[in-house]
This record gives sequence, C-alpha cells and structure tokens, in this order.
Amino acid sequence: MTEQEILEAAIAEYGGEIQKLVTIEELSELQKAIVKQIRYPGDYKRVIDIAEEMADVWVMLKQLTLIYGVGDEVERWKQKKLKRLLDQVTTPIIPKSAL
Ligand SMILES: [Mg+2]
Repeated sequence: MTEQEILEAAIAEYGGEIQKLVTIEELSELQKAIVKQIRYPGDYKRVIDIAEEMADVWVMLKQLTLIYGVGDEVERWKQKKLKRLLDQVTTPIIPKSAL
C-alpha cells in the first residue's frame, strides 16, 4: 500500500470524526513531550519521544488534509507562511537608516 492508501484506509476504518479527535490527542502528546524535554534537558530519550510524537502528528495532519480535502490549500498557505518567515528573518528589526 502507498502512504496515501494507508491514510485513506485509516480514515475509512475509524471515520473522519474520530480521526479529528485522534489528531487533537496526538497534538497534546507532542505538547507534553516538548514540556518534558525542557524539564529534563539532559535526558536524550526525551528528544526521541518528541520525534515519535512529531511522527504521530505528521500522520494525523496528513489524514486531516484528506478528510477536509485541503491539500492544495495547505500547500498554498505553507508557501505563504514560509515567505513571510523569510521576510521576518531577513528584515532588520531596526532599519540601518535609523542607526
Ligand atoms: Mg502519540
């Protein structure tokens, strides 16, 4: 099965509404993993935990994209947000002319 087919099979098996809830659950797990890593910075296992939860969230976000049928829209927003971020990180906070 392709990645797309696996995601579609999960939606068909569990239903879109449940998968929306699972997405929220996985986002919460990622939040918790990040908090734990900050609280215990010397424990490398916490970083691995974050990677696992990021993978869970990624899988669920891909399913949400299919459930809502917004793949093209997400890509457009992603490009727009990346452009804005680029502008933010390359534009001086204090213009050189003010110095
Ligand atoms: Mg998880």
